[in-house]
Amino acid sequence: MRKHNADPTRRRLLRLGVAGIVAIPALPLIFAPAAANERVSEDDPQAKALHYRHDVSDVDHEAFEDGQNCANCELFSDPGASEWGPCEAFGGRLVATDGWCKSWVPRS
Ligand code: SF4
Repeated sequence: MRKHNADPTRRRLLRLGVAGIVAIPALPLIFAPAAANERVSEDDPQAKALHYRHDVSDVDHEAFEDGQNCANCELFSDPGASEWGPCEAFGGRLVATDGWCKSWVPRS
């Protein structure tokens, strides 16, 4: 007669492994929507470092030139957005179409 492996430690590890295999594919569903729908705050440390402003009329930076804004920046990944859209410089978080930061790149 064959004896079942009754080692509780091994069973527990197997259960944790199965739980991990199930949970890992769900991680993007848990974290991505929050990042994708989150508006960048002007108080965000990264926004401050890049001199990001929601409104170009508030920009006071030597690199800024009239006509530049997020909507015509290469890193703004939804040119059809009307007010807010994802920015690659901010990991896909939303910036204002009329905003600006010092990472502005002309859309090609
Ligand atoms: S990288 Fe471009 S789209 Fe993103 S905040 Fe700066 S100017 Fe706006």
